[in-house]
Amino acid sequence: MASVSFQNVQKAFGSTKVIHGIDFEIEGGEFMVLVGPSGCGKSTLLRMLAGLEEISDGTIAIDGKVVNDIESKDRDIAMVFQSYALYPHMTVAENMGFSLRLRRAEASLVAERVAQAAKILNLGPYLQRYPRELSGGQRQRVAMGRAIVRDPKVFLFDEPLSNLDAKLRVAMRSEIKALHQRLGTTTVYVTHDQVEAMTMADRIVVMQDGRVEQIGSPLALYDRPANLFVGQFIGSPAMNVVHGTLRRDGGAAHVEAEGGVRWPLNGQGGADGQPVVYGVRPEHLALAGADAPVQAEVIVVEPTGAETELLVQVGGTPITVVLHGRTQVQPGDRIGLDIETAAVHLFDAQTQLAQHAA
Ligand code: ADP
Ligand code: MG
Repeated sequence: MASVSFQNVQKAFGSTKVIHGIDFEIEGGEFMVLVGPSGCGKSTLLRMLAGLEEISDGTIAIDGKVVNDIESKDRDIAMVFQSYALYPHMTVAENMGFSLRLRRAEASLVAERVAQAAKILNLGPYLQRYPRELSGGQRQRVAMGRAIVRDPKVFLFDEPLSNLDAKLRVAMRSEIKALHQRLGTTTVYVTHDQVEAMTMADRIVVMQDGRVEQIGSPLALYDRPANLFVGQFIGSPAMNVVHGTLRRDGGAAHVEAEGGVRWPLNGQGGADGQPVVYGVRPEHLALAGADAPVQAEVIVVEPTGAETELLVQVGGTPITVVLHGRTQVQPGDRIGLDIETAAVHLFDAQTQLAQHAA
């Protein structure tokens, strides 16, 4: 199984630099997800790996071999795009076998590989149909089938599920993951959707403005975000953040924020008087009584059945709370909030870096 390596990879379009020196390694067989807001350079990085975009500086290697000067068709990769890019005048079978035929593979080999891929993707009954006769999900599967028949060293996906409705997206997510577990092919998957990243990845690369913010397993990013950006980007609903001042004098350490609210800490590092950002995830807050550390006013109650999301106001700051199950709480109620202080994140207000434990 092929590894992939990026070393100081940079990209400029004319005088505009969009990738500022990217370094990381993908292990053979790994499912790596590149995630970040729209425009952060995910597609550009993937297209450089695919050989569809020139590399301005640095090196990219596949399976230990630098590919900077190797043409796309000779890199032994297969890419699946958001747009599917199927040939409308070809049947499903012809679409899937096209790249092999282009490489002058024997007709019997093409037929065998197409049949195999069709079986894996449950496309058997559709092989003689044309793309226009398929649903969005089926078209997406044909696009994946086309990649599978190539048996490439690396699969590249660029937002392949963005054109599907929400339910199908969840189903296809599992299918792609199952496919990877079955084939074990090294995969680089680009998405702007952090839920997709969390649920599918072995490891995630979080990007912003052409730079890597953090690399790690989904739960490592969730539990130990290196900075405020990653803290807020990973997790849904997003982490609550409160700006304030760290206080260590006079009693237990806390962050003093707008409205004189004292947000409790539990071993987080930082100096007395330091401007900080206090981060607490909605699921680390719970309903409590009038003696709870933080008092809130309920603004909105959103039941989803399994959970209830509350939007509350704490000393002028809007805060989201996620409760398991249901609640009698109504808009306008005054409630107390208990905080799982060990799960609180503290970031330096200036550098935005996570404060490590004291
Ligand atoms: P993402 O896939 O993360 O949404 P892209 O890689 O498509 O982001 O784009 C990164 C940045 O590069 C954006 O600012 C985009 O406008 C710019 N960009 C992408 N392709 C080109 C191009 N061919 N010419 C000029 N700028 C481009
Ligand atoms: Mg993109």
